[in-house]
Amino acid sequence: MLSALWKTDLIKSKYFVTGLDNSKKTASIAGMCGIIAYVGKEKATPYLLDGLQRLEYRGYDSSGIAVLSDEGVIDLQKCAGRLQNLRQQIGEQAVAGSCGISHTRWATHGEATDNNAHPHFDQSEKLVLVHNGVIENYQKLRDDLESKGHQFRSQTDSEVLSHLIGVFYDSADGGSSEERLVAAVRESLKQVSGTYGIAVMHVDAPDFLVGARLGSPLIVGLGKGENFLASDVSAVVAHTTDAIYLNDYDLVCLKGDEFKVERIDGGVADFQVSQVEFSAEAAELGDYPHYMLKEIFEQAESVENAFRGRLSDEEASAKLGGLQMSPQELRDVDRIVLVGCGTACHAAMAGEHLIEALARIPTEVEIASEFRYRNVPMDKNTLVFVISQSGETIDSLGALREAKRKGFRVLGLVNAVGSTIARESDGGAYMHCGPEIGVAATKSFTSQFTLLTLLALLLGRMRDMSVSDGQEIIKELRALPDKIREVLKQSDRIKEIALKYIDAPGMLYLGRQFNYSTALEGALKMKEISYIFASGHASAELKHGVIALVSEELPSVFVAPKDSVFKKNLSSIEEVKARKGPVIAITTEGNDELDRLADDVIYVPETIECLNPILSVIPLQLLSYHFSVARGCDVDKPRNLAKSVTVE
Ligand code: GLU
Repeated sequence: MLSALWKTDLIKSKYFVTGLDNSKKTASIAGMCGIIAYVGKEKATPYLLDGLQRLEYRGYDSSGIAVLSDEGVIDLQKCAGRLQNLRQQIGEQAVAGSCGISHTRWATHGEATDNNAHPHFDQSEKLVLVHNGVIENYQKLRDDLESKGHQFRSQTDSEVLSHLIGVFYDSADGGSSEERLVAAVRESLKQVSGTYGIAVMHVDAPDFLVGARLGSPLIVGLGKGENFLASDVSAVVAHTTDAIYLNDYDLVCLKGDEFKVERIDGGVADFQVSQVEFSAEAAELGDYPHYMLKEIFEQAESVENAFRGRLSDEEASAKLGGLQMSPQELRDVDRIVLVGCGTACHAAMAGEHLIEALARIPTEVEIASEFRYRNVPMDKNTLVFVISQSGETIDSLGALREAKRKGFRVLGLVNAVGSTIARESDGGAYMHCGPEIGVAATKSFTSQFTLLTLLALLLGRMRDMSVSDGQEIIKELRALPDKIREVLKQSDRIKEIALKYIDAPGMLYLGRQFNYSTALEGALKMKEISYIFASGHASAELKHGVIALVSEELPSVFVAPKDSVFKKNLSSIEEVKARKGPVIAITTEGNDELDRLADDVIYVPETIECLNPILSVIPLQLLSYHFSVARGCDVDKPRNLAKSVTVE
């Protein structure tokens, strides 16, 4: 009966993201922890290892792979550490088998040990599972299972799920092994609370995979005679560009030449086969030693991509059709809430400043994880924007859902087309900055900033902003890419500065007004990849406490362009110098007022005050990059971090 439900014909349709300006598709790069599973005719292991390599940016404290051998035995290999360790462990001994599942982990429950690495067996060792997410009620489930004699081999929350599915499988009566496995997955998922993206395989059901998702990303890659499950299309694009972005509560069954998508509760799933436009090269390093450097250098182009086709000379305004709002609705907006985490939150802070200054609409920034558990007062004219590069950040997604639950219009500013936030928001705008693989966000920050400028311009021109002010912003936006190139030319000099301070125990970052958030972002970059302590502050806050830290050893990085608050910044720099603190200053070309005062000055081209952060943040990105590389840090995969966070 089940087989009647298998779909053998692909429904070919262009992926359409409701409400978002979908004119240009880029790859979906998202998430924490990576799953890749394969069923087909080829040897599974090379496909899985290659997929894991492409997903490694998502989590990389351990990895593992399980392949069902042609003899019907599950070969499970897993170990702590980078993927390289797993490759070495497998060596030349990869089993012949054309169905397998694999995982690169970012630990939430249990240390990064060999045993805690996924996949996890069930009690019988006939079933294996990989899991992305968190099983919140795992302790109770584990206690129950242990009281029935189950022995757990790991400290993870995930292992309860493999045991649970095994229990339901063993107790199911009737039906084929495949049907029993699917039924067992359904039953088990009813018992768990939390989030999951899973792939499951059983020795009794060879060449058959089951996947399901709730809260964690999972896509199906449809090849010719082979199919994939993966956390992200980047893991499969080398083999196919036909993909299904599963929705929460979807369950998928895969064979080499068949697939079936249903709801976990057995209902009919609403899905489409999308053509992913993804150039595998976009995710390659090219001549760069690290993705982070490559992405820093891509910013002239990525900023241009963010405003391309979105500027209207005629109206001296911006066009953001993906917002799906009428001019009247846009005019009625009386409050804006910008939600994000990490770098996206810093972009939001810059956005607050931009929107209030240019459009005079009261705007607030909410840290996504806080917003979700607060009761933020909003009314029908409040517009919520959720900012996320990956579009999968679970805290941001939670905030989006909470705002929607309360009936608000929620828009997304995301990079990953087809990501969950893109799908669930009422509209929005894509960053179009291409895959960002380096864990420390760089080009996504400047793209977010650009989009927020467009938003401020659009809303401003519907209110008090004059035509000439609108034209000025447009002119300056267009001039940015060339100015960014000028900044990037200074990479070697910034490296010299970084080397000069290589033994610094920490760094302070200071800026004010439009560049307060730049200072925060500069400090975050430094912390993330160098592991030295760094903190960002509004310059004038120095004297309210931070100045106690100033010493001959601790450099202060000032973002002090020649703007309306330059003189104020200058006083703060004087205060630091009076206490013998070394100062690295970012200022505007042609401004020589810092030469006598600062130890090192980095110049960026002149632009209007509100756009300066796009230029000033780049030297900060380069400073942390060169500093961290020189200290031997793995800048693309900093310890304890993963690209975007799909666990709460
Ligand atoms: N919670 C699981 C663990 O700690 C999965 C983490 C992940 O998504 O990588 O093993």
